[in-house]
Amino acid sequence: MKAAPFAYVRPSSVAEAVTALAEHEGMARVLAGGQSLVPMLNMRLMRPTAVVDVNRIPGLDTVAIGPEGGSIGSLTRYSTLEASADIAAHLALLTTVTRHIGDRQVRNRGTIGGSLAQADPVGEMPLACLALGASVLVQSVSGTREVPVHELLLGPYWTSLEPDELIVEVRFPTAPSLFAFSEVTRRHNDFAVLAVAVTATRTGEGFTGVRLAASGVEATAILAEDASAVLEGTSLSDAEIAAAVEATVDVADPSDDVRASAEYRVHLLRVHVRRALERLRDGGDRV
Ligand SMILES: Cc1cc2nc3c(=O)[nH]c(=O)nc-3n(C[C@H](O)[C@H](O)[C@H](O)COP(=O)(O)OP(=O)(O)OC[C@H]3O[C@@H](n4cnc5c(N)ncnc54)[C@H](O)[C@@H]3O)c2cc1C
Repeated sequence: MKAAPFAYVRPSSVAEAVTALAEHEGMARVLAGGQSLVPMLNMRLMRPTAVVDVNRIPGLDTVAIGPEGGSIGSLTRYSTLEASADIAAHLALLTTVTRHIGDRQVRNRGTIGGSLAQADPVGEMPLACLALGASVLVQSVSGTREVPVHELLLGPYWTSLEPDELIVEVRFPTAPSLFAFSEVTRRHNDFAVLAVAVTATRTGEGFTGVRLAASGVEATAILAEDASAVLEGTSLSDAEIAAAVEATVDVADPSDDVRASAEYRVHLLRVHVRRALERLRDGGDRV
């Protein structure tokens, strides 16, 4: 099957892109890496009146990350994230999760902005951005606004973006010093059955700024805020980790699907939250 007819627009600036989106009154779609959009067009799951190809807009793939965080342009490819020394040094969780996404071809085309707009419930990038406390800068003809990722992700393939809004960049606060990432897939680099990402900073004997996120246990990736609160300022003792595991299970509400039963997902959640927190306590993962 091939896509239904649509107009093809190739803007050369963000202003031109958002004007095109506005002109089509919510019926246009942005084309970034095309790794999700093109299959959806070809299967006629989407029938936009226009496709706005943002691939030739200069500056939309700028990476400006340092010790105080910074921004990543929405058109930045997974392969660029994977190869960036600045991201490895300051946002190593992003480097790590990128290696779990699809295959080389997907990573050469897929973008950080496309991944967040697509909001796959088990996508690695939404999960990592949630754990890192990121937000997106979005633009339309009405202006710009900044949306925290936890407010962007509303459900499976569902975000709080308006149809005429373009994600321009992803912003990150100062990164925590430690992270751990744990994922279950049925085959290497398949979509995840379940994944856990945790970040924190070590201060003396304790851990602060703990953020624990999980995917595959709810309609979208979740931030387990009660679990994070349980761990704040602690040394991540076995008892504290056990309490955080139960606090995470309390906010999970998985469903059965083709990849796993709900019961198995809860089992996996317990195992992988514990493992991720134990690794964090032992110094965290390395790129
Ligand atoms: C074989 C295969 C395996 C994959 N495996 C994985 C995997 O293991 N893990 C994983 O997370 N993903 C996986 N993916 C999906 C991949 O991550 C996609 O790249 C991603 O979901 C979408 O990014 P994109 O840049 O290709 O966006 P596109 O496909 O171009 O767009 C996706 C959606 O986002 C919208 N959009 C894109 N950019 C913007 C923007 N800047 N502002 C507003 N809206 C925008 C589009 O209009 C469209 O609705 C896989 C894909 C394939 C084909």
